[in-house]
Parts: sequence; structure tokens; C-alpha cells
Amino acid sequence: MIRITYNKDLGSLNTFGMKVKAACYVVYSEAGDLPQMDWDKLPQPILPLGSGSNILFTKDFPGTILHSDIKDIDIIEQRSRGDEVYVRAGSGVVFDDLCAWAASKQLWGIENLSAIPGTVGASAVQNVGAYGVEAGDVIDSVICYERSSGQFVTLNAEECAFAYRDSIFKHQRGRYIVVSVVFRLTALLSPQLEYGHLREAVERNIELMAPSTDPYPVLEPHAVAMPLSVKLVRDTVRIIREEKLPDPAKIGSAGSFFKNPVLSRESYLKVCGIAAEAGRDKVPHFELEDGNVKVPAAFLIEMCGLKGKKHGGAGVWEKQPLVIVNASGDASPDDILQLKNEIITAVNNKFGILLSPEVDHI
Ligand SMILES: Cc1cc2nc3c(=O)[nH]c(=O)nc-3n(C[C@H](O)[C@H](O)[C@H](O)COP(=O)(O)OP(=O)(O)OC[C@H]3O[C@@H](n4cnc5c(N)ncnc54)[C@H](O)[C@@H]3O)c2cc1C
Repeated sequence: MIRITYNKDLGSLNTFGMKVKAACYVVYSEAGDLPQMDWDKLPQPILPLGSGSNILFTKDFPGTILHSDIKDIDIIEQRSRGDEVYVRAGSGVVFDDLCAWAASKQLWGIENLSAIPGTVGASAVQNVGAYGVEAGDVIDSVICYERSSGQFVTLNAEECAFAYRDSIFKHQRGRYIVVSVVFRLTALLSPQLEYGHLREAVERNIELMAPSTDPYPVLEPHAVAMPLSVKLVRDTVRIIREEKLPDPAKIGSAGSFFKNPVLSRESYLKVCGIAAEAGRDKVPHFELEDGNVKVPAAFLIEMCGLKGKKHGGAGVWEKQPLVIVNASGDASPDDILQLKNEIITAVNNKFGILLSPEVDHI
């Protein structure tokens, strides 16, 4: 079924809560709706939108927003004596609902991605990632509608060209509309706990005590240890995230506003030097195989003294300075953009590093 609305208010359809309108808003509930659409008659351009959790609308949108309501989750194949399980999920499925579904079936692979806002369709577009796992690690293929040919095409993981928060879909915007994604999950015990303090948090097993200023919350052991399970890892991730990140239902944001920069060793050492002068003997970092070093943008922003910084209704989130929030609830796109520019300038002036936004500006 296709539903079309004109002059649609997008205020509740983007997690930043930008009060903008779209000339047209189309919701489709099955893949077969897409070839039926009279594309040329719709206001242009066409923009697929999931939950709007990685988008900053900077003004009213003159074209058509296309929203998937395809919500099926099916096991389509099992291999290796049933251990490898191929799961197809519709692009309109809430990604965390898929994580919950996988946990309920004891299927490993996406538990570290629990509680990332947004839809399954966008998880492939964005190659969402958290706690050492990226969607592209477990995506087998992506089924799309290609508007130019009017055909459905299946792209395997290699063709999707997944990279850090990147995929072919971001470079050929408008070409593919994702209708479903096939994930390769496993029934074999496969926790991935190497990132940060996740293993420690999972092993301590697990009750959140008081809110903490530590990036990882204080966790207390249960009297009786719980068995390691998909659900246990999922719940741990959710607790850690709740502590650090604003809940989009309460405070508008699009999560991490900037990408974590990848630095040459030379510029990483320069950051270490500046940090040491400021009394910080450790710079959090992640060594890459090619010798470069990834440094959290949050650390650089914090070092510039911008934690909690406000501009109009926009603010830098105290607990995670990588996040710009709609602090007042009625921040304008301009407030967000001004604060973004202030951050980019400050980090560039102090470290000579140019941060680039992760959030799509529309
Ligand atoms: C509080 C918070 C925390 C977050 N934490 C994380 C995190 O830990 N890791 C992470 O990676 N991200 C994180 N994000 C960002 C965001 O959740 C992801 O980028 C998510 O994948 C966006 O999903 P969405 O459905 O909201 O996509 P949207 O924001 O609606 O769209 C994102 C992009 O995908 C395209 N798109 C959407 N659906 C389709 C489709 N069906 N076909 C083709 N293109 C499509 C859009 O055109 C756009 O380019 C966070 C966001 C918030 C608000």
C-alpha cells in the first residue's frame, strides 16, 4: 500500500526535532509498491528516510520523502548444520527490534549494535557500528529497488563497499532504495567483547549502580553469575549506552555528529604532545593495521573545553561531547550549524585536525 501526504510536517520524523516540512511524504508497505509509483509526478528530489536519526534538516525539503514500512523478519536459510543463520529483515524494521529478535533466538552477530536508533534499511546505508562491530561485518546482501532501471537488484557485501560509516549507497544517493537486508548470524557462541571495557562490564554481570562520570558505568556483580548469552551482551550494551547518550525520545540529537578522525602517526604524536602539556598523559586511540591511528573526536572536542558549550538552543552533550543536542527543544538548524562550525574551528586551531560530520545535512 502507498500513502501520500503533501506538505508534511517532519518535526517528529527526525530525531534532532528540526521543525521543517517536506513538499511530499510517501510511505510504502511492500517492495512491490515501488515499481508502481509514478516517480516523475512526485516533487523532486526523492529522499529515502528511515527514522531520521542521522539527518540534520537545514531547511524545508522541496522534494519527496520516501519511507519504508516493510517490517518482516524471516529466517531464509541455515548453513553449516544449522549454525549459520541467514535472516532477511525489511528496510522499515526498527534496527533495535531486529537486535531484540536475534537475542530472543540466541543468534549472535548484532548484539553489540543494540539500541542504535534507526531502521534496518539505514543500517546498511550507514554501515552502523558500535563496540567493535559494524553492520557490514554481518550483512550478507542488500536487496534494493533501482529507480533508473526499474529493477530489483541484490548487492553482496563486497558490492556494498562497506567502510567506516560508509557504503556505496552514500555515494550513489538516490540510485538504490533499500527494501531488505540479509544478515548472516550464528547460533555458535560468538561474543565480541574486545572493545573498550565491554568484556569487563559483561563479566561483572550486571547491575547498574549509580550514574557515573566514568565513560563506562560502575557495574556491580550479581550474587549469582548469569550465563553468557546474546541477551546478556545486548543488555550490557544498552545499559552503557543509556548512561552516555541522550535518549532521542527526550532530547533531540543525531548521535555522533562527527566522524572519529584517522590520523597519521605524526599527527597522533602531535595530539599526544598537546594533551601532555594540558596534563593529560593518555590519549585514547585505536591503532589501525595500516599504521594510522583513530582518535575519538570526543576527546579532541573535550580538550578544546567545549563540553556543555551552547549556541542558541543547541548544545554539546556533557556526557559525550561528540553529540550535538537540541538542548532547548526548539533549536533551529542554524543553531546546530553554528555550533558545529565553532567545534570544527576550535579543533582545527588547537590540533590542526579537520573534523568531518557523520550526520547527513539535507
Ligand atoms: C542517540 C543516537 C545514538 C546513535 N548511535 C549510533 C551508533 O552507536 N553507531 C552508529 O553507527 N550510528 C549511531 N547513530 C546514528 C543513527 O542511529 C544511524 O546512522 C542509523 O542507521 C540511522 O537510521 P535511520 O533509519 O534513522 O536513517 P535516516 O537518518 O533516516 O537516514 C540515514 C541515511 O540513510 C538513507 N536511507 C534511509 N533509509 C533508506 C532506504 N530504505 N534506502 C536507501 N537509503 C536509505 C537516508 O537517505 C540517509 O542518507 C545514533 C543516533 C542517535 C540519535
